[in-house]
Amino acid sequence: ARDSLATATPGRVTLRSLRKVYGDDASATPAVRDVDLDIEPGEFITLLGPSGCGKTTTLRMIAGFETPTAGEIRLDDDLLNKVAPNKRPMAMVFQSYALFPHLSVFDNVAYGLKLKKMPSARVTEEVETALTSMNLGPYRDRAPHQMSGGQQQRVALARALVMRPKVLLFDEPLSNLDAKLRVQMRGEIRRLQRRLGITTVFVTHDQDEAMTMSDRIVVMNVGVIEQVDTPEEIYRHPLSVFVADFIGRANFLDVDVQGIEDGSARVSVLGRQWTVPSHPEVEVDAPVTLLVRPESVRLSPTDGRAVTGSVGRVLSSMFYGESIEYDIETEAGNLVVSVADPHAHETFSPGDYLDVGFEEGRAWLMPVGDEPQ
Ligand code: ATP
Repeated sequence: ARDSLATATPGRVTLRSLRKVYGDDASATPAVRDVDLDIEPGEFITLLGPSGCGKTTTLRMIAGFETPTAGEIRLDDDLLNKVAPNKRPMAMVFQSYALFPHLSVFDNVAYGLKLKKMPSARVTEEVETALTSMNLGPYRDRAPHQMSGGQQQRVALARALVMRPKVLLFDEPLSNLDAKLRVQMRGEIRRLQRRLGITTVFVTHDQDEAMTMSDRIVVMNVGVIEQVDTPEEIYRHPLSVFVADFIGRANFLDVDVQGIEDGSARVSVLGRQWTVPSHPEVEVDAPVTLLVRPESVRLSPTDGRAVTGSVGRVLSSMFYGESIEYDIETEAGNLVVSVADPHAHETFSPGDYLDVGFEEGRAWLMPVGDEPQ
């Protein structure tokens, strides 16, 4: 059965050579430079990156709040560049919710429909449907300040969805909520998005939020897209050191490369030879690094009494309940190691010498390129 709030048809958003330079100085550094992106109908895509990377500017150009300096924005086959924000079949949910403080929940949600001159009987019907669908029925007569942050966020979402947009835009919608509610709202937004099948563009600087919610993540840095991929691919096979470092935690090991064939490489590190998957652009003589995630490191007791070869030494340990984390000194550098379910494993103490290895198939040999600043 179709959901009563479902969109008619989810939109496809296409960005081509999209560029934004703020101000009149054409030689100024672009906030967004030559971004190409295809957002599929029904997809949940997240723009992620550090402060100032251009994610909000990109979102605001899609919404129409900023005019591109160059390039194209399309929704399905229509060029949107010159279309006013309120004429785009899109709706945005803001960080601050942007509810009208003097209007009731009902009137907040009804606002856009009344502006569109929808007959009032239909407005009532549509708003009631939206409120019921979002479990906001009991709050219809309240003012925003009489509700919690999470409830206000749901009103903001209902107000967006009642417009039946082809694309839903979110600008850091969860950053004003406390940690627990934030995690709960992630799940709520994602379930709603799946249920409605609506194309969604979500902006955040929170890696966990991006990882847990998205079909695909767009990692941006200084106005440029570094990688577009599923959360798992971004985590396991990052295309740059910036992405590897920004998403999750990373150990980078210096290795000697003996040979590369068909996406796998023979390397030596930690006193042994390993066969690891490698980035397609890795070359034998170019600078490379081996990415090993903390949970892929393997530790076992050893007779060794010096940090050399495969022998490392525990510098510190931290107990997190569901996992334990170690800092290990090795000849390839210090490693962060995460061991899940510490109760099922032997635990180690600072000063212990250990044999250090890693799961070969989980490592990733990657080039060290010219990283943007
Ligand atoms: P944040 O998470 O801090 O909002 P962001 O990744 O969303 O960062 P943008 O807000 O898109 O980044 O900003 C990209 C660049 O453009 C930054 O260098 C920022 O200072 C600049 N910028 C953003 N808005 C304006 C504006 N209205 N006028 C001039 N420069 C701007």
